[in-house]
Amino acid sequence: MPSSLSVYFHIPFCLRKCPYCDFYSVAGEQEHIDAYVAALERQLASPKAGGFQADETCSSVFFGGGTPSLMTPFQVGRLLDAVARRFGFTEDAEITLEANPGTVTPEKLAGWRAAGVNRLSLGAQSFDDRYLAALGRIHSAADITQSVRWARKAGFANLSLDIIFGLAGQDLRDFGEQLRRALDFAPQHLSLYGLGIEEGTPFGALEAQGACLTADEEAWADMYLAAHELLTKHGFVHYEISNYALAGCECRHNLRYWRRGTSLGIGAGAHGFNAQGYGARYAVPADWRGYIRGETMPVEIESFGRRQAMAETLYLGLRTAEGVSCAEFEERFGVTPGKEFARALELGGDHIETHDGRLRMRLSGWLVYDALIERFL
Ligand code: SF4
Repeated sequence: MPSSLSVYFHIPFCLRKCPYCDFYSVAGEQEHIDAYVAALERQLASPKAGGFQADETCSSVFFGGGTPSLMTPFQVGRLLDAVARRFGFTEDAEITLEANPGTVTPEKLAGWRAAGVNRLSLGAQSFDDRYLAALGRIHSAADITQSVRWARKAGFANLSLDIIFGLAGQDLRDFGEQLRRALDFAPQHLSLYGLGIEEGTPFGALEAQGACLTADEEAWADMYLAAHELLTKHGFVHYEISNYALAGCECRHNLRYWRRGTSLGIGAGAHGFNAQGYGARYAVPADWRGYIRGETMPVEIESFGRRQAMAETLYLGLRTAEGVSCAEFEERFGVTPGKEFARALELGGDHIETHDGRLRMRLSGWLVYDALIERFL
């Protein structure tokens, strides 16, 4: 594991809640962002900023949310300066900011870029106004086009687009059109998420009342496979279940998560991971008001034993195209994955392969990933 760390900032403010979203965020409270940024700086400066001792150099920062694009360039710059003071940056540090197309301006984009943000993850979700309305998004397809144009002009060479697929009524032809429109923007990275209905959301309540909001399983699988075919044909590497990138443009921050590297979770509702020993996960309570008042700090929520760490190494690693190195696994745990998880791997059948000393899940396995990984738990 490289001796660097990642910093994740959670910005739990949105202009409006989308009815499918179960991320921790609140709507209409953006006047408190300045006080919240001051609290983020305080956490970052505290001795055990992520809940544990960590002093490595920072190789990636991710501003996630919520809607981090509600922050001004000055606020973003303050936070990046605070990371620089506390940990310093590796020369090629990746700094990502998630942006909602309904909240960006040319000035903000230029300001974030000048502050050091070098990767923009745009929450496009769809390029069709009908679907954007169905998803309760605050922006239109035209806003996406404009945001991409401004972002490029501001100097963002590394652009990622998030897309949601598998909405009720969406067919393969329609989804193909969405992907082609995404490709027209020449992004470096694409994240494709199947619409999930989460309990406790307005969509969850509608579904409980009998509404059908998602495409059926077969249509979902067809779209997933069609995306793989089209995007790989256009030079993208399908490097994780839901993620595609041009070579060298994989999201290093997220790769670190799947590789179980150290990351600090800063902000209300943020999660972090201490890779020491078998690993431990930390979280800051999801209470932004308490956080601003200085009442909440990260707490350990899960400490891994050897067997749990082995299982997690495998099931996070199998999400990625690089898979898991059998030699590194054995060096770390004293046993090969083939021996420790012989039964689960056997049940995985053709969905899992060993190639060049690495265990990998095939595309067919990613389609049924949830069912397959249960066997490792
Ligand atoms: S903008 Fe993003 S974080 Fe905010 S409610 Fe919508 S999906 Fe959730």
